[in-house]
Amino acid sequence: MFDKILIANRGEIALRVIRACREMGIQSVAVHSTADSDAMHVRMADEAVCIGPPSSAQSYLNFPAIISACEITGAQAIHPGYGFLSENASFVQVVEDHGLTFIGPTAEHIRVMGDKITAKDTMKALGVPCVPGSDGGVPTLDDARRIGEEIGYPVIIKATAGGGGRGMKVAQTAADMEKAFHSARAEAKAAFGNDEVYIEKYLTTPRHVEIQVFGDGKGRAVHLGERDCSLQRRHQKVLEEAPGPAITPELRARIGKVCADAVAQINYIGAGTIEFLFENDEFYFIEMNTRLQVEHPVTEAIFNVDLVREQINVAAGLPMTLEQDNLKINGHSIEVRINAEKLPNFQPSPGTISQYHAPGGLGVRMDSALYQGYRIPPYYDSLIAKLIVHGADRPEALARLSRALGELIVDGVETTVPLFDALLAEEDIQAGTYNIHWLEHWLETNLG
Ligand code: ADP
Repeated sequence: MFDKILIANRGEIALRVIRACREMGIQSVAVHSTADSDAMHVRMADEAVCIGPPSSAQSYLNFPAIISACEITGAQAIHPGYGFLSENASFVQVVEDHGLTFIGPTAEHIRVMGDKITAKDTMKALGVPCVPGSDGGVPTLDDARRIGEEIGYPVIIKATAGGGGRGMKVAQTAADMEKAFHSARAEAKAAFGNDEVYIEKYLTTPRHVEIQVFGDGKGRAVHLGERDCSLQRRHQKVLEEAPGPAITPELRARIGKVCADAVAQINYIGAGTIEFLFENDEFYFIEMNTRLQVEHPVTEAIFNVDLVREQINVAAGLPMTLEQDNLKINGHSIEVRINAEKLPNFQPSPGTISQYHAPGGLGVRMDSALYQGYRIPPYYDSLIAKLIVHGADRPEALARLSRALGELIVDGVETTVPLFDALLAEEDIQAGTYNIHWLEHWLETNLG
């Protein structure tokens, strides 16, 4: 086992990893930009190293600075959290070239799944059902028009290098194709430096259902059921729950096995998520994320597992402790992502936290790096807290979420808490009957 792990991240996910390290008797090293000198992850880790100025490109994405921090502190492994370098195959290569361990999958698996066309081809070959669409990249508008006719409108044009919901445009009819095609390419070029796009049938009422998988790197893998992440704004998740309200035990067992078998066949190591759109009882693969997800706590809650501990174990060469037959669902869990943003337009609202009180009690988990007096810097993601509740069943989890939101105090900045208060009053949320478009419609009607 490692003696010391460096966490190449910030905020709540850095705390999440530091906590796992402490429970495992492993020393932790925080890295931070000059804007984060007072951040909680810096205070909580055993050691901290400043790796550059505020801009992420010069700090949290700065390979040499992060590798030097390992060398200075003697850290043997790097946990990337999510975002930043977590799905950067070149970084993994550099880490390995320096004799360090990357806590995550291999550079090769990251590369394959990071290119959405290759990922889709790979998954198809492994028996995973995919959304009908183009075979590979679509280079010209003429090709796009031809494919649109073939698969039938509406279609969605997506960036091969896509992520974070960017570089995606819908063409409702053939008349929309020209504009959608060019704007998807332009957005992809600007966001990812790669304007290759592909086309998929646009599903009109799907849910976003993703399967958590975990592999030992030696041909054994398990699945930990699904998370429903259909409540989205601009293709970004807002609330996640497990198990999925629309998924029966039979559907779960079927798709779970397909996913676990697929990752076992490629000797996948560590945590991964296979994302699907789910419509009319069918699953359609959209992408695989080769890292820990923001919403992993809802899975941890219902299976009573520690995914970060398991990641560290397998990265250190120890056997995976997860066994499919022992993974039984207990109750229901819901997570809400609380952002420092001002409603109704969701503008970032950085500033100083004048008062903070975290909710507690039975079945409540608050993953947050906030504290009273903390100054939220304007340079990074606006997620400030994840509130996760666990109950015996879905109604209990909903009631607990409402109760916990009522206890939470975050003063000094605007937050998205009022959005969740309002959503919990909605019949569709109470009933669990919502798809990926539900929230956008609701926002237009209620906050537009
Ligand atoms: P990203 O990597 O940018 O998050 P994804 O491929 O995971 O992109 O898609 C993100 C979201 O976009 C999905 O959860 C869904 O809401 C929407 N989406 C993607 N593909 C389709 C599709 N074929 N039909 C309908 N919606 C889609």
